[in-house]
Amino acid sequence: MTFTVAIVGRPNVGKSTLFNRLVGRRLAIVHDMPGVTRDRREGAATLLGMEFQVIDTAGFEDAHDDSIEARMRHQTDTAVASADVVLMLIDARAGVTPLDAHFAEYLRKQKTPVILVANKCEGKAGAPGMYESYGLGLGEPVPFSAEHGEGLADLFDALRPFAEAAGALDDEEEEDDFHLPPTDGEEIETEDRPERPLQLVIVGRPNVGKSTLVNRLLGEDRMLTGPEAGLTRDAVSVEWEHGGRRIRLVDTAGLRRRANIEDPVEKLSASNTLEAIRMAEVVVLVLDCAAILDKQDLTIARMVVEEGRSLVLAINKWDMVEKPQEALQRLSDRLETSMPMVRGLSTVTISALTGRSVDKMMDAVLAVHKTWNRRIPTSQLNRWLEDVLSHHPPPALPGGRRLKIRYMTQVKARPPTFVIFASKPEELPESYNRYLINGLREQFKLAGVPIRLYVRGGR
Ligand code: GDP
Ligand code: GDP
Repeated sequence: MTFTVAIVGRPNVGKSTLFNRLVGRRLAIVHDMPGVTRDRREGAATLLGMEFQVIDTAGFEDAHDDSIEARMRHQTDTAVASADVVLMLIDARAGVTPLDAHFAEYLRKQKTPVILVANKCEGKAGAPGMYESYGLGLGEPVPFSAEHGEGLADLFDALRPFAEAAGALDDEEEEDDFHLPPTDGEEIETEDRPERPLQLVIVGRPNVGKSTLVNRLLGEDRMLTGPEAGLTRDAVSVEWEHGGRRIRLVDTAGLRRRANIEDPVEKLSASNTLEAIRMAEVVVLVLDCAAILDKQDLTIARMVVEEGRSLVLAINKWDMVEKPQEALQRLSDRLETSMPMVRGLSTVTISALTGRSVDKMMDAVLAVHKTWNRRIPTSQLNRWLEDVLSHHPPPALPGGRRLKIRYMTQVKARPPTFVIFASKPEELPESYNRYLINGLREQFKLAGVPIRLYVRGGR
């Protein structure tokens, strides 16, 4: 059994170079053939012994008709539809361009899982671009160099679940190995770079106490590290340690100030908040205890979940609350009705002003980050799935036929992302999908983080 990988991305990011590296021989058709539209190329790929089919979408830029978007769309549509997983490449040296963003936006709407590959990452010149590419909302980038063959092991790890699912690996033997705790430092040169800090962003409506909380977190008693230590108010990001873990707080107000020097009126716009959320691994949404989870709060919370980030709710100004029991009850009712897709959300009551429970909030940040990174062994997943299917199978299809669900695997962490294989994926009811997600959450202790479940056909 094999599986299919589509390579997509704007022109010049290195798709063909990657394709050639994977397929292992130079194909005759390369650059500079005016008037020749290269066809979609397919080949048998090998990556560190793993075998799969690969589709390259390079070449649409040579066509004359239509807009670039239309051509891109056509090539990409075909490739994405026939693939089990998509590798979206960016040129990390060039940074994220509008065309990259356009691609990402499109891919995010498709049903095929996407792995973001930050190409041209050899040396150090790719680091800022790789960092920036978090903002595409496709999860964590795999640092890579198609030309120099760096990052092959990381790419292998990212593709491995798909190989497992296709039965293209002897998975039983290697499973334990694969499910070692995910390495946090996934950079190419791990040895000369320290562990990657946990990326934290603080959002919320105006006046809930964000600045007060940031100042509290960065108080004098904290050991500030990093290039911008000391410049707290104008800093774009600052780093410190909590519980032995390095934390990087991305101060989006700082980012905005830097970007909008001309514009003295600073508004909280949805796009600013979205941009901030995409930078984050963990988002702390600050709420005011006087109006917990109003409409705007819920909008932001849902954005965080849709973006697949982990979320902690910090209910601030707790020093002012008069009836704490009532307030907490109201909160849990609202969560139950309005945020059922992330049952078990982490909530902490704090006072940014006095500093009360701010440490506890940071403990919650570390805990949810761990959950968000969790990997569940395929064997455990399938044992659980078997059990679920025997007790609560999916409803019968019209005509009394049964939908067969065959297999399940976790293809990604950050957030936990699963694929199940079913005989008629399009006929699996949304309600059953939700049922499985809730079951996964309970069984594997994935409280409070977004869970993604893709259904694929075949096999
Ligand atoms: P495509 O248009 O996406 O298929 O891009 P190509 O594979 O044709 O590559 C575009 C340019 O980027 C070529 O000049 C490649 O040599 C160069 N390139 C590809 N991969 C890398 C890489 O990992 N590092 C660097 N520095 N250059 C690369
Ligand atoms: P931001 O707009 O979200 O950055 O909010 P600020 O940090 O500027 O805070 C808005 C107001 O709430 C200020 O007057 C703060 O002093 C006050 N505030 C912030 N945190 C607390 C808190 O924990 N308790 C109380 N009582 N007031 C707070």
